[in-house]
Amino acid sequence: MTEKPSLMADGRVGTGVVASILGVGTETVRRWSLEGKLAAVTTPGGHRRYDPAEVRELHRVRAATAVKKCDTCNWPVDDCKCPPRR
Ligand SMILES: [Zn+2]
Repeated sequence: MTEKPSLMADGRVGTGVVASILGVGTETVRRWSLEGKLAAVTTPGGHRRYDPAEVRELHRVRAATAVKKCDTCNWPVDDCKCPPRR
């Protein structure tokens, strides 16, 4: 990641920026913030703002784990329901 996120005045980024960095939809970003995976602050106007450092960390974690997919069902191995194979 070399591009700079477009920072808000408070040094945070908005939902759309987070979504494009992580390659997911804005609904997913909102869900992650509700689930506590990604800390958000809410502005007086009701918009969510995210810490860019935290977004980068989540991106790093996802990049490290996203490649592990089941050969059979192509689901992430953690969610795979296939019988164990040797
Ligand atoms: Zn599987």
